[in-house]
Amino acid sequence: MLWHLTFNLYHQFVVEERFGFNTMTWRLWLSDQIKGLLVSALLFGLLLSGALWLVQAAPHSWWLWVWGFFALFSLFLMYISPYLIEPLFFKFEPLGQPELEERITRIMEKAGLKVSRVFQVDASRRSRHSNAYFTGIGRVKRIVLFDTLLEQLTADEIVAVLAHEVGHWKKRHVFKRLVTVQLLSLGFLVASWWLINSGVLPGLIGLEEGSFFAQVMILSLLASLAGFVVSPIWSALSRRDEYQADHFACDLTADAEALASALVKLSRDNPAILIMTFCTAYGVRRRVADRAECAWARHRGADDSGPVDHDQLSSRHPASWRPGNNDRCSAGYRPGFQPARGAGRTVAPSLE
Ligand SMILES: [Zn+2]
Repeated sequence: MLWHLTFNLYHQFVVEERFGFNTMTWRLWLSDQIKGLLVSALLFGLLLSGALWLVQAAPHSWWLWVWGFFALFSLFLMYISPYLIEPLFFKFEPLGQPELEERITRIMEKAGLKVSRVFQVDASRRSRHSNAYFTGIGRVKRIVLFDTLLEQLTADEIVAVLAHEVGHWKKRHVFKRLVTVQLLSLGFLVASWWLINSGVLPGLIGLEEGSFFAQVMILSLLASLAGFVVSPIWSALSRRDEYQADHFACDLTADAEALASALVKLSRDNPAILIMTFCTAYGVRRRVADRAECAWARHRGADDSGPVDHDQLSSRHPASWRPGNNDRCSAGYRPGFQPARGAGRTVAPSLE
């Protein structure tokens, strides 16, 4: 926990500050940390005590009960988070821009979704990063736009970003990810149950025997190793989803240029600090450039797979994302051209 706090502090007040993104005061940071700690302690306490009770109550089939409990708990959290948890940290206000609201409603309706409310949130109190997302189970959505996004993007670009999010919804990316996570969780619980019963876990760290809690600790170490293997596959799938959502947004808005320029702005305003793993930098940089290429190609009515005139591209957009400038796989923080953290976040239930 101390490590997490130190890293968080360094990230907010050293790294973010250095590149001009931090707008947070010490007081707000401290209040966020205290609230965050209380909320996580409460949720984690509920989750852990529920799981332990199930392990004792059903020693032969706890993997199934714990899995069901975790699945229901996470669905419940997704449902209540926009109403109970997010307002603890952010202030939600009506958008107050009827014209933009109308355009957003129109684009959502074109895709078969209904808009219940459009909110803006005071993200600028914390940083200059921008984002947009929608929440809501079913076809009725509640849209949230960061005030930073409203400041940095034009109306066309905001509509394009939301169309991209609609793309994730329509292509069922959110649903597929939820199902995948639940299947992985089930697999992990079955494996945990089997490993604990077989008694092999203490031997892995040179012990002859270990308590239930010691074995759970060993399992958490194994889970981190498994995560290391799964994460590049997950990233590859995410990248594929991003392409699909972009294609969908181009078709829905018929305004590929707005999507391309929104992506460039988002990648500039939402830099990520990259730690070198599996050439992440290459993948993300390439993705932003390809999105713009795809958008531009569609705009010209060209075939997606056909060659793209990079000179024409760069003459209309900043050179920073020109394909070829970003082809190297490199790590580190570089203002000017930075990978996007995702063009917005779809929370419906919540996922990027
Ligand atoms: Zn996306």
